[in-house]
Amino acid sequence: MALIVQKYGGTSVGSPERIHAVADRVKRWKELGNDVVVVVSAMSGETNRLLELINAVNPKGAAREHDVILSTGEQVTIGLLSLALQGKGCEARSYTGSQVKVLTDNCYSKARILEIDDAAMRQDLEAGKVIIVAGFQGVDADGNITTLGRGGSDTTAVALAVALNADECQIYTDVDGVYTTDPRVVPAARHIPKLSLEEMLEMASQGSKVLQIRAVEFAHKYNMPIRVLSSFDECDEGKSTLVTREEDIMEKVVVRGIAFNRDEAQLTVTGVPDEPGIAFKILGPISDANIEVDMIVQNVGSDNTTDFTFTVHRNEYEQAKEILCALATEMGAKSCGGDNKIAKVSIVGVGMRSHAGVARDMFEALAKEGINIRMISTSEIKVSVVIDEKYLELAVRSLHEAFGLDAAAPA
Ligand code: ASP
Ligand code: MG
Repeated sequence: MALIVQKYGGTSVGSPERIHAVADRVKRWKELGNDVVVVVSAMSGETNRLLELINAVNPKGAAREHDVILSTGEQVTIGLLSLALQGKGCEARSYTGSQVKVLTDNCYSKARILEIDDAAMRQDLEAGKVIIVAGFQGVDADGNITTLGRGGSDTTAVALAVALNADECQIYTDVDGVYTTDPRVVPAARHIPKLSLEEMLEMASQGSKVLQIRAVEFAHKYNMPIRVLSSFDECDEGKSTLVTREEDIMEKVVVRGIAFNRDEAQLTVTGVPDEPGIAFKILGPISDANIEVDMIVQNVGSDNTTDFTFTVHRNEYEQAKEILCALATEMGAKSCGGDNKIAKVSIVGVGMRSHAGVARDMFEALAKEGINIRMISTSEIKVSVVIDEKYLELAVRSLHEAFGLDAAAPA
């Protein structure tokens, strides 16, 4: 007998019919002799609807009240799913985050989980019940309702799996797993049956949207395997992707997948004095404004000056540019500017650790298409480049082919 945590996303519980389909599936897993804990999201569109209501009434009001409102979507689905299961003769009990208790810090709208009390859930599991937990929400030490940030139900599921020492954390979604890249951009993208947690972490932080980054960080930190499956596959016999410990993966490919994102913007200041403390002087005020910086490049200056380029989230581009250009004037820089029509493309794979020349092959493929590289960054298992956004699709397609990731054409 296994203890399984399953998470169902918004589309998987998007209508009464879908909720019944989820209940049938949960019941099947239970009847196979497993202990089952289910985490659900709000019905698709619901969290956005709640956000619109907040914006219509008072978007600037206390963040505490935003979370009181946003957490209601999940509270509806746990009740509905429990009712559906009870109707099918399967004992089930719903839990809000505070009933569990999922203890978080008090950073409303992006709270971090500190601790999970598993006592009540264990008792119900022992009594043979299925547990249905509201994703995306917790409670702080003072009893205030908190939420974990968009897509946070994945994090709830992984954290529960860790707390309960589950055998597997299954994330049911509307796709049947992780692909070598987004199939909407590259139709020849291949399904990946198995990859490592570290690879998934890089893919998620470089733009793959299948799993929420924080959930993968959590799973990576605690070595909790995640299986991604489709809730639209009727009988659990279809494809899935297992994201697991590196030692459990036989095939260590050089490039496992290609991730990309259009969410960044580039900022550059040129001709600043090349002296100690300059990076701090430039990035200090940016970080004081709570703007996160991703890639950073500073070149070696020749005439005692240097150029400095970095990327930020596109939503924060204007604000960052204002701060930077004010600084540039102060420092007597030559120029200050930026571009928000950029994209980042990354190749990811654990096999890179033991393979030379991967970056070279990447640059060759991009050169062949005449695509200019603006910035480069690397980690042990990843190479990322920033390019003009208009070349994004072309870059992803040619890299996918160059690294042999295209699925064979059907015979
Ligand atoms: N309902 C929340 C959202 O839409 C949490 C989730 O779906 O994971 O972001
Ligand atoms: Mg969701």
